[in-house]
Amino acid sequence: MSVFLWVMICLMGLCWGSFLNVLIVRTLSGESIIMPPSKCPKCGHSLYWWHNIPLVSFLILQGKCYFCNKSIDILYPIIEFVGMAIVLFSFIKNVSIVDALSVVIILSMFLVLSFTDVKERKVSVIQCAFIILAGLVFNRHDIIGSVIGGLVGAGIVMAISYIGSKFFNKVTFGVGDIYLLGALGAVVGIDRLFLFIIYALFLEFLLVIPQYVIGLIRSNQGETLKYLIIFGIACLFLYVSRNISFFCSNLILACFLWIVLFAAYKLIRNLFSNLENPEIQSECPLAPAIAISCLIFLC
Ligand SMILES: [Zn+2]
Repeated sequence: MSVFLWVMICLMGLCWGSFLNVLIVRTLSGESIIMPPSKCPKCGHSLYWWHNIPLVSFLILQGKCYFCNKSIDILYPIIEFVGMAIVLFSFIKNVSIVDALSVVIILSMFLVLSFTDVKERKVSVIQCAFIILAGLVFNRHDIIGSVIGGLVGAGIVMAISYIGSKFFNKVTFGVGDIYLLGALGAVVGIDRLFLFIIYALFLEFLLVIPQYVIGLIRSNQGETLKYLIIFGIACLFLYVSRNISFFCSNLILACFLWIVLFAAYKLIRNLFSNLENPEIQSECPLAPAIAISCLIFLC
């Protein structure tokens, strides 16, 4: 493609990013996407057309509202930039325009869902439906695999939710998670669904652990925190000692293994007793982990 075409794609990407901003804000506020026209979230003043030029307006206005002079959230230009990156990535990765546009829809909707899920645990059914639709188009050569993937993805969450509430009296997933997993299934297809669920769970684990640790510190759960740290350090040493042959006598390895198992046992025991503690029981939005998992698939 010519340089001119790539520049055009970048500019369209920036506008698309600007639209994604609107989508995030309006999904959270529950307003329509089309009306009313854009306004400052701080003072409510309607914006002029030149306040809405992606990136440029932010630079001209020096990050401040033209009317009330309050600072504009840095997230706006960042999302505009990410919107452009998504469009560029999609067109670099895919020769077919249909594929590229499907990938743009999939990644963009997942981006919006990640924000609304993290901020207010809101998952828009319409946005998930767009992902599923784009997933079906993207997998049009194996559309049955895609449909089954979507159904199985949603079905797994429904089954776990049902078992959790029926037998353990616990809320395991939100309704939105059913749509999110359905969307993931439609994109990756049934063949790779379980692999990418494992990726998503692993990512979720990485994203939740810092939140969990903060919860422990805030509620003064020193005991659990101590075992978490011991577990982490022992795992690290176990990993390192595996690679250093002279250090890796069976005795040392056995010691570390014992520490890992002991800490893990203590950790799991404390974790279960903490589940009753509402301060630590953190709400875990699934959308970011699923979005990254999907991105890995599309790379
Ligand atoms: Zn303002």
